[in-house]
Amino acid sequence: MDNKIEIFTLRNTLDHVGAYVFIKDTECRYTYANKMVCDLFGASLSEVIGKKDDDFFDLRLSEQLHENDLKALAGESIEGEEHNLIASTGETRIYWSVKQPIKDPDGHIIGLFGISTDITERRRLEIELAEQRNLLNQVLENIDSYVYIKDTEGRYLYVNQNISELYGISKGEIVGQLEADILPADIVQKFSQMDQKVFESGAKVAGEEVVPHTDGSIQHCWSIKIPIVGEDGSKRLIGISTDITELIELKNKFQALARQDDLTKVMSRRFILEEAELMLRLAQSRGEQVAVIMIDIDFLKTINDSYGHGFGDTYIVALAQACTEALQDSGLIGRLGGDEFLLVIPDTDRDHTTEIALRIQQAVKATKLHAPNGELLQVSISMGGALSSERMTLIDLIGKADDALYLTKGEGRGNWSLSE
Ligand code: GH3
Ligand code: MG
Repeated sequence: MDNKIEIFTLRNTLDHVGAYVFIKDTECRYTYANKMVCDLFGASLSEVIGKKDDDFFDLRLSEQLHENDLKALAGESIEGEEHNLIASTGETRIYWSVKQPIKDPDGHIIGLFGISTDITERRRLEIELAEQRNLLNQVLENIDSYVYIKDTEGRYLYVNQNISELYGISKGEIVGQLEADILPADIVQKFSQMDQKVFESGAKVAGEEVVPHTDGSIQHCWSIKIPIVGEDGSKRLIGISTDITELIELKNKFQALARQDDLTKVMSRRFILEEAELMLRLAQSRGEQVAVIMIDIDFLKTINDSYGHGFGDTYIVALAQACTEALQDSGLIGRLGGDEFLLVIPDTDRDHTTEIALRIQQAVKATKLHAPNGELLQVSISMGGALSSERMTLIDLIGKADDALYLTKGEGRGNWSLSE
């Protein structure tokens, strides 16, 4: 190729390499600059040739650039980052620069050449990415949840510190391991149920996971598992599991409290009515009968007035205990309120219901209490019962039992009536 054409081709190529390419003499004067350098300086090649960097940059702020030139002129090969403040825009750009000395055939340094690639944008993205990663790490390590990434085989690809603490081994020992290598088979099986749903549906799944521990304790977790695709196209899931054991225990405690009458510890009004409703529906579906028996303490007002409300409470508790013991497993007892109780007897008939009612009356009559003044009092109650029929509602059934109770009260109390 002709020498001129060769030089033209070379220059043209250097103008399009996407990097700043230049040659300087030993005085750091440009002897060549490609188009990108000229464009950066806003000058033509002939205007750039013979000029130094300080004609274009504020060299006080771009000292590193000049130092690297001097190092290359001293024979060193430079490769590294350079920060350069562009005077015209006031912007600092970052370059990856390679600078090398140029030698004549005798080995004397006659200048340097440099190739600088602008990596400002890449560095900005790297910094942004590092900041985001740092933020994400802070969240993952401080979140009060177990966070993990697993593949379809149950292999851990990521775990946060909470998991490492839960399993008692380092994160490095967990990542890459199969769940089955770390956890007991029954737990792996429990976890895999939700995991499989995620992989099969390809959608987010949320739900409670119950984890039995070797010490006998039960851990409840609320887990959210989200399907993701790895860089290699493989299926994975991100899981976030939060320990809700305390909440569940609290819920159970409140539920138990709501089901129990505070004073007597028999079933609360709401719970006995719910149970009665269920028992009535079950009996009706099976063609059986349910009996309800209303109990009302006799003359409790008088007892309160004579011996105080506290003793009245003791009286109510003694009555509830006597009824519960006499009832045994024949039915349920709950306090409707005040001095009223409700018994529900499943799968029964008139004879069986009467038998239970009389057993309770007998047990109550045998219950004697010492009043605060030492007087021995015999507890007395009135009872009224009713048996269910097909399609009867609970309200009707209780209404009939209440009518029977009214009858007992009218007939002098301390006794029992069963509605026809
Ligand atoms: P009766 O024989 O007609 O049932 O007369 P009674 O005095 O028991 O009156 P009634 O059943 O109509 O009213 C229930 C009374 O029970 C009203 C109230 O003074 C009393 N009572 C209601 N709840 C409580 C309680 O929690 N503790 C105590 N000590 N007394 C209560
Ligand atoms: Mg009463």
